[in-house]
Amino acid sequence: MAKVCPGCECNYFEFIQKFYRDNEASIAYLRDHGVLPLEVICPRCKTPCHYRAERHTWYCGKYKKIAKTKRRKQCPYSASDFNGSFLSGARIEPYKVMCFANHWLSKQWDYQTVSQCLGISLATGAAWQKYCSEVTEHWLDNQEPIGGPGIVVDIDETLFGKMKYEKGKSLSQIWVFGGVERDSKNYFIVPLEEPVSQNLMSLIQKYILPGTVIVSNRWNAYNSIKDYDYVHQVINHSGDSIDEENAEAHTKNVELLWRDIKEWTPGPGNRLQFYKQYLARLLFVQQHTFSTVNHYFFREVARMYPPDFENEETPSNSCNDVQKEHDHENKESEVSD
Ligand SMILES: [Zn+2]
Ligand SMILES: [Zn+2]
Repeated sequence: MAKVCPGCECNYFEFIQKFYRDNEASIAYLRDHGVLPLEVICPRCKTPCHYRAERHTWYCGKYKKIAKTKRRKQCPYSASDFNGSFLSGARIEPYKVMCFANHWLSKQWDYQTVSQCLGISLATGAAWQKYCSEVTEHWLDNQEPIGGPGIVVDIDETLFGKMKYEKGKSLSQIWVFGGVERDSKNYFIVPLEEPVSQNLMSLIQKYILPGTVIVSNRWNAYNSIKDYDYVHQVINHSGDSIDEENAEAHTKNVELLWRDIKEWTPGPGNRLQFYKQYLARLLFVQQHTFSTVNHYFFREVARMYPPDFENEETPSNSCNDVQKEHDHENKESEVSD
């Protein structure tokens, strides 16, 4: 994992102290983390635009001679700083986005508290919860594959939640699947959607590199691993010392894998569609220290929404209402926990 930028590490309160009610500092931070552009090139003139901070807008304004006259014409190209970014269409000030995420990334976040403290409506709070969730889900879906030729990866599956049937449907259970490299301890964890046996192989192929030695338990769903470009070992408590060693190492490794989410018991009120959302936030928060979680979150934001100015031709005025707080269009967003 790459190091955080110098001076970037800060805890929950230091973050608030740095950015609360400070849009300028917030925008600088967002620029440093690739969420907002450092430079915008005019698509017509191919030259760098000027930035007007008070309007959050990039302007070209380059002069061109009008042919056969002595007059000059100024290029009218302009674009909102927030174009295509995480803040695109945001109706709340940049510092509020920053402080919302900071609170959302704390272990015990509370959506009513953060909405009230930032002076945003509950509907806006719910919308920003959804946007933040999409970022950690994107992170969960794009974990680096592990393994490689000759590298041992222990895999395991586990069922979270309690059996609770309502109208014949299990409401609070989810399969989670993961793998961990025996030496480096690099790992991935992903929700495993039904039908389990069908989805399992596609997850293995996505997250485990060809040539890997995959060690698993005797679950039937793992039987087809051998049909792919892997070496498959099934743990075997035979009493043979080599087998026992392998089985012991496997058990230790998968315990490590579930350590961070072992305590997780989805409440009966949580519906299945929210589990991935919930799991993604939980894992993201667990995997980063409290002083670097914001850095990694906003780097992920930049990965998910790279600022894009290539096709922008029409000036946007969304920056003008950034000071005003409106109900977000996403009123129907629901809250998972
Ligand atoms: Zn231009
Ligand atoms: Zn940073």
